[in-house]
Amino acid sequence: MYAGRVLQGAGARALVPDEIERLGAQRVLLVAAPSSAEGTQDLATALGERYAATFGRPAQHSPVEVTAEALAVAREVRADAIVAIGGGSAIGLSKALAIRTGMPQVAVPTTYAGSEVTPVLGETENGVKTTRRDPAFAPGTVVYDPELTLSMPRGLTLTSALNALAHAVEALWDTEASAATRAYAVEAADGILSALPVVLGRLSDVAARARLQEAAWLAGACLAQARMGLHHQLAHVLGGTFGLPHAELHALLLPHVMRFNLVAATDAAARLARVADGDPTHAVAALAAMHEGPTTLGALGLPRAALREVAERVAASPYPNPRPVTADAVEGLLLAAWRGELVR
Ligand code: NAD
Repeated sequence: MYAGRVLQGAGARALVPDEIERLGAQRVLLVAAPSSAEGTQDLATALGERYAATFGRPAQHSPVEVTAEALAVAREVRADAIVAIGGGSAIGLSKALAIRTGMPQVAVPTTYAGSEVTPVLGETENGVKTTRRDPAFAPGTVVYDPELTLSMPRGLTLTSALNALAHAVEALWDTEASAATRAYAVEAADGILSALPVVLGRLSDVAARARLQEAAWLAGACLAQARMGLHHQLAHVLGGTFGLPHAELHALLLPHVMRFNLVAATDAAARLARVADGDPTHAVAALAAMHEGPTTLGALGLPRAALREVAERVAASPYPNPRPVTADAVEGLLLAAWRGELVR
């Protein structure tokens, strides 16, 4: 269970300076996504003398070179705390800095990726992504301010929410997940499936954005507490090796992995059918198809020739999964996702 402090609500970002004071920090490094420039400027002003510097170039999958650059800035300004504002990339960089320096972290997420409540850090070196888990990686404070999610364009809103849904779905078919984790997962899936269409209908709906963000928080907790299976393994291998965009990749893979796995995970299928009010794979596929950007692995730029190699890598050391993972089965799933044709 995430043991940090969670502050939430519209305008909650104004509480960050108090949180820094509580930590006794004097020189804050802001780690910020470029998209959060305005919020970053406001935070820097609100921090006053406690503001030291901003590092504004986090990258997906935490490349170690970027961490080295940010570390140099942190050392130069003698930073003693980090405030990360942005999506999973900014929060990943914050974790990477924290484990190298021991600095406390305050995370202010602006997407639904969920990294802020997990003890997990994925880093990329020479094109290979490795994932480590340590309770010390999780930020001590998370500030959920739904107003910071209003700037997410339609495409990112949709794909990031499906990324969150994937955490909940995989927790539901983890046979070792606790009752508490299953409860989080059902609540997260319910929240995402009901709030996402409302948000997509009106991106500026703060109340619906708040519901979606809360569901994404619970989904992040699922990612922290459950064993992730084939879906996250595919996303890690494809994302880390080919640099494919994280949220879009999760969004397009999810219906295909659900189609593959749910036949072997009847309890998860029944719970998801209740919250989806029908066939959950269809519901998720319909949402994924609403994306105006790439919705197939082919459109995302993955060469057809890579599918077999990816399938073999995944099958050689599969993550725990309800259905046996063979290279042929994974290749079939990847081919369906590459073409965008859901197997019946
Ligand atoms: P991201 O942080 O890379 O952000 C995607 C893009 O959206 C960026 O250009 C960013 O600037 C922009 N953006 C972010 N918030 C925005 C907003 N509110 N409005 C407009 N634009 C905004 O993407 P992500 O999907 O949030 O995170 C992906 C990264 O996080 C990956 O590296 C992934 O591996 C990692 N991740 C890690 C964990 C974990 O537990 N360790 C969990 C989830 C994701």
